[in-house]
Amino acid sequence: MRRRLTWVGLAAIATAFALVNAGSALAQEPSQVTGLDAVQDDGFATLSWNAVEGATDYQVERTPVDSADQPTGPATIVGLWQPTRTVTPDAPTFAESGFVLGERFCWRVRARFGTAAQPFSAPVCGTTRPQWGSGPGASLRTQFEQTNGASYTSDVNEYAYTAALDAASERVRVVEIGRTLLGRPINMFVFGYPEPLAGTAQISESPTTLIQCHVHGNEPSMRESCLILARELAFTDDPTLLRIMERSTVLIVPTLNGDGRAANTRGSSTGQDLNRDHSLLREPETKAFAAMLRDYTPDVAVDGHNGDNEDLPVLGPRHLNVFEELYSEVKNGLVESWIYDNAALAGWYAGPYSNGGASQETILRNTFGLKSIVGILSENRPGAGITRPGATFAGNENRKSYGQLWLVKRLLDYHDQNHSAIRRLVAESRAFQRANIGRIVFRGSYPWPPFPPLPSAPDVDAPTPDAILEDPPCGYFLTEEQYHGAQPDGTVELRLNLHGIVVATAPGYLVRELGPGYFVRMTQPLRGLIPPLLDQQAAEPMVGGVRLQESSNGRCAQVESVSFQAAIWSTGFNDYTSD
Ligand SMILES: [Zn+2]
Repeated sequence: MRRRLTWVGLAAIATAFALVNAGSALAQEPSQVTGLDAVQDDGFATLSWNAVEGATDYQVERTPVDSADQPTGPATIVGLWQPTRTVTPDAPTFAESGFVLGERFCWRVRARFGTAAQPFSAPVCGTTRPQWGSGPGASLRTQFEQTNGASYTSDVNEYAYTAALDAASERVRVVEIGRTLLGRPINMFVFGYPEPLAGTAQISESPTTLIQCHVHGNEPSMRESCLILARELAFTDDPTLLRIMERSTVLIVPTLNGDGRAANTRGSSTGQDLNRDHSLLREPETKAFAAMLRDYTPDVAVDGHNGDNEDLPVLGPRHLNVFEELYSEVKNGLVESWIYDNAALAGWYAGPYSNGGASQETILRNTFGLKSIVGILSENRPGAGITRPGATFAGNENRKSYGQLWLVKRLLDYHDQNHSAIRRLVAESRAFQRANIGRIVFRGSYPWPPFPPLPSAPDVDAPTPDAILEDPPCGYFLTEEQYHGAQPDGTVELRLNLHGIVVATAPGYLVRELGPGYFVRMTQPLRGLIPPLLDQQAAEPMVGGVRLQESSNGRCAQVESVSFQAAIWSTGFNDYTSD
């Protein structure tokens, strides 16, 4: 006789679980989910089950239980799994998150046909992983962890935690890369095993991953992921993480915009969106960050944010001056193969970041590409959305931070498994830039179309003809005043130097033609960034230099027949508010 598993009150739940625990084989209803399994990870459990034919989605139910699996609270629907949001629609997995870490739960899953709910699966129970940190790291917890996600870590708490980690582990060195405008330290963790490499030059010459955790002050989730990861790297015995730190350096900048975090504002204390300032470097925060990129030259990087519609929206560099093979590797290799596939296995909804995502060289994921770094933007969904109903504030924050913790670990794995290919790609990208062959684009994006079955996609951002120089310039001339003249944001000399753009005194023939000044050659690794910074036709130039072209006698000189208006290009760029 078929026996339907119906839960009417806690007593019935207890009876049902006792049956499961006794190993009884329950007869299956038609369309009942089977094969439910729960695998525990840091801050989430991956639930997986067998797909039910014809199901349009699945509901996930969580019940808190004691050590004997007796319910201690009500069952709640905490998840909606939609086959349209994953690359494996026939293999359901759901990253169940948003609980207090270390507590024990039982889960059931049911299919739905439209809104018609089918019978629940048999339950599966498990104790979730506690907050990471046995051994020497056991006593260290961030404010976020101490409150189980109910409050973010304050600046004071972050600095105390950072100093404690620095003091307690040989594997980490904390470097202050700069200060915010209001004087808050901008720290960077430098990890290696058994200890970090001694000097910046050594790190630059060896494999390095950069995790940039926080730039928009009101997007704090990945900062929490990074502080937790820092403790794990400092004290872990995990052989994979130890090997990663033995073979490469891991850099973590937990808080670039400390003033914005303290005020919970997107911008810095001046109101400047720092993720629109990675080319112009008007602010002390972006100046410090650019100098760090110049000196440490990471190969792989992530820029952490908090927005859009999936658990983990990601996007790579799209600016058309980025080396095409680097853009392709980020899109096809890192994002669409590595991240989407692994996210589907773990149960996170990953997808293309769709809230804008255009070509501005001012945005870090584009600047990464222009600096020959295999880098991505990583966002997460601010609200629980329809797929995670019933989430509390703290539960939602836990989901966001532990989701991004999972993501940055996959980035470390990706780099670890592809060291030599990535080194080769970075070298090819720099060589491509130095060769100065092919068109220059001021603004315009490589395509990033929808990725079936994931529905969302970034905007179309093809360049308009007036944003393209088919014949690339050979360099730019800057006058003495343009190069050395005082400016509120710092001289052009200072800011080009922070990028690592090489500038020379103008040669005699240019001086005779244009007067005393400075010469910026295009044949250098940051070639793709130079016209957006120095051309009068650029969208947001740092200064309007004189564009130089290769002349018939082989010199890099001003083209007499062309004169340019010193006007800011204004052909209708989108002004996105996210990313
Ligand atoms: Zn953001």
